[in-house]
Amino acid sequence: MARDERGVTPQSENFSDWYNEVVFKAELVDRGPVRGTMVIRPYGYRIWELLQADMDRRIKETGHVNAYFPLLIPESYLQREAEHVEGFAPELAVVTHAGGKQLEEPLIVRPTSETVIGEMMSKWISSYRDLPMLLNQWANVVRWELRPRMLLRTTEFLWQEGHTAHADEDDAMRETMLALDLYARVAREVAAMPVVAGEKTPGERFPGARRTYTVEGMMRDGRALQSGTSHYMGTNFAEAFGIQYAAESGELEYCHTSSWGMSSRMVGGVIMTHGDDKGLVLPPALAPYQVVIVPIGRGDQAAEVIPPALELADRLRQTGVRTHVDDREHLSPGFKFNDWEMRGVPVRLELGPRDLAAGSVLMSTRLGQGKTPVSLGEAPSRVGPELTAFQDLLLRRATEFRDSHTAVVDTWEDFAEAVKTGWALAFHCGRQDCEDDIKAATSATPRCIPADGPPEHGLCVRCGLPSAYGKRLVFGRAY
Ligand SMILES: [Zn+2]
Repeated sequence: MARDERGVTPQSENFSDWYNEVVFKAELVDRGPVRGTMVIRPYGYRIWELLQADMDRRIKETGHVNAYFPLLIPESYLQREAEHVEGFAPELAVVTHAGGKQLEEPLIVRPTSETVIGEMMSKWISSYRDLPMLLNQWANVVRWELRPRMLLRTTEFLWQEGHTAHADEDDAMRETMLALDLYARVAREVAAMPVVAGEKTPGERFPGARRTYTVEGMMRDGRALQSGTSHYMGTNFAEAFGIQYAAESGELEYCHTSSWGMSSRMVGGVIMTHGDDKGLVLPPALAPYQVVIVPIGRGDQAAEVIPPALELADRLRQTGVRTHVDDREHLSPGFKFNDWEMRGVPVRLELGPRDLAAGSVLMSTRLGQGKTPVSLGEAPSRVGPELTAFQDLLLRRATEFRDSHTAVVDTWEDFAEAVKTGWALAFHCGRQDCEDDIKAATSATPRCIPADGPPEHGLCVRCGLPSAYGKRLVFGRAY
């Protein structure tokens, strides 16, 4: 689609079309030559870099260290953990030829790195003094995708994967919950996504995990987006890869391991949590440009306003604000306004000859009405608080949206109605065939058993058997 075709399909008309148009028109991504692959363009990649930098800082602050493991994994490694290989088999890309001949053992392009990291941990861990081992990797992974969707489901995507080994279950579970909390904080504090954190039901567990936890965000079409997961593996991978340590008693014990990941699909989550009919709406913490200055005027007038615009940009940058001056000569101010609205820039400053004469700029925000004159001298001290307020507004707005699209339901009729437009909080019996039945009837699945839901007992919203989880589950249709 050409950039100069203005506007996008309204969300209310067709959310899916809206999304597909926005990701291209805002120049976040392009299609890769291989079906299901994605090019992340500079504007989209900057959003990911900002998220990545924040997460990386938090990951390191909690005692983890980064390492890098190979992209190619021997096929036999995956086969060592039966549930793991079964879960990933349909999505694997396998290298059978290299160096001009058939390989003796096929190689898997990593879909995740539990196996190769497990193998290395078995070499690096020998005593209780080596524990806990707290590793993280930033990498790309490949999971063959038959129904691709830019940033949400692509054959190759970017992520971090934490992999840790511990002496016992208590320590590994503490780690699993620490990672979950880290994701919830990043989602809320950086992406302004009010996620719900909780445990997955057995049917939704990661292949090979004993327990899987998730943070789930609500998108503006009412669907859920799994935005980060944390898994307690028990000793499954330790047994498969021989990750053992000598305890203080001298006894040889298996480690308890965890793994956890958050990916570039978070960028898709930000788009669908905050965007509107004009395009993207970016939280300042993730905006490549937090402020765009548009100088108004052509020819001599441009020559007059551009230098003070550049000077203002410098002063804003000195206060840590990511600022861009749009001095493209061949485009009208109206075009530029629409363009930066499409691309979700939080704050816009206009500077024309009359503003300059009055010693001021006109400030507007991506969701605000009207423009406010701000004196040129005060602009740097005014913009910081404006960005903070905008970040808070997005979280508040998304929280209100989520809460007004979440219903506590006890009857099947109310359940079916609620999951058409949002989430249902309902009791469930815990039986897999009942989960499957609900999915077949409504497309909704249990998103999580919320960590902070109040303890409650009742009857399964579908089959009437007693609830299995001691609280209501979040159900919704999901990406
Ligand atoms: Zn049931």
